[in-house]
Amino acid sequence: MTAVQIVEVSLRDGLQNESVMLSTADKIRLAGQLADAGAQRIEAVSFVHPKWVPAMADAEAVMAGIDRIDGVSYSGLVVNRRGLDRALAAEMDEINVVVCASDTFSRRNQNMSTQDAVREAVEVVATAREAGVFTTLTVATAFGCPFEGEVPPDAVINVVGAAHAAGADEVCLADTIGVGVPSQVADLYMRSKQVMGEVPLRFHFHDTRHTGIANAHEAVRVGASALDASVGGIGGCPFAPRATGNIATEDLIYLLDRSGISQTMRIEPTIAIADELEQLLGEVLPSALQKAGGFPPRAS
Ligand code: ZN
Repeated sequence: MTAVQIVEVSLRDGLQNESVMLSTADKIRLAGQLADAGAQRIEAVSFVHPKWVPAMADAEAVMAGIDRIDGVSYSGLVVNRRGLDRALAAEMDEINVVVCASDTFSRRNQNMSTQDAVREAVEVVATAREAGVFTTLTVATAFGCPFEGEVPPDAVINVVGAAHAAGADEVCLADTIGVGVPSQVADLYMRSKQVMGEVPLRFHFHDTRHTGIANAHEAVRVGASALDASVGGIGGCPFAPRATGNIATEDLIYLLDRSGISQTMRIEPTIAIADELEQLLGEVLPSALQKAGGFPPRAS
């Protein structure tokens, strides 16, 4: 049976793009609930400057408060050396270094060109690996850019190649604004694998145009090892005002379970977390399973 890891990103990608800011205590409690629901990889925080992402300003406090559980790997996002130093001080199990394939997006998001961002990321990856931390390099805007439109596959593969040369343990291709379709997933997978060989490939999908679950299915079909998802489908993108969140974790669990693809999370407790997030954020969440429930129905 095929197996796929779910990387739970609601506390990071989800919350950093919501207008309601949760308390540190709420985040710590939610991280515990995610682990209880079977999450084995939790992207809990982002070590970026609080001026840019105020919702992640309490990253250190969140990590200090989380009761680390054996078998659960906690990840933090970093974009530069300063972020890596903070991540190492917080004793993260893994880090996720982000580079935007689109130059315009990179300049707006990280205040530097893609080329400069790659240079910085290569250094960060090398330093993190020396420190023994599992390191992912995420290629953002791999499927399209809100400013430049189509992103040439070669621009994506250039970043993948640099990540591979730097020794990243995993590469993630991110559809930051939710424009990708399954044929693009298969194409980018094939091109990336030609460069990366056996290094695992992970995907990050937003469901802005309702292609997120189809993309996730295609990613698994072609051989992806991990998929990002957020409970309730919370989140968005600050540079794509009408973008919706990540694919919902519970929707992904349903797809994988019913397709006979092995993963570790359970649907009911995940839906319960979505219900709680809906209360905390005060909005109806995009999740389908939260509304419809699983199938077949459980006798209660
Ligand atoms: Zn995202």
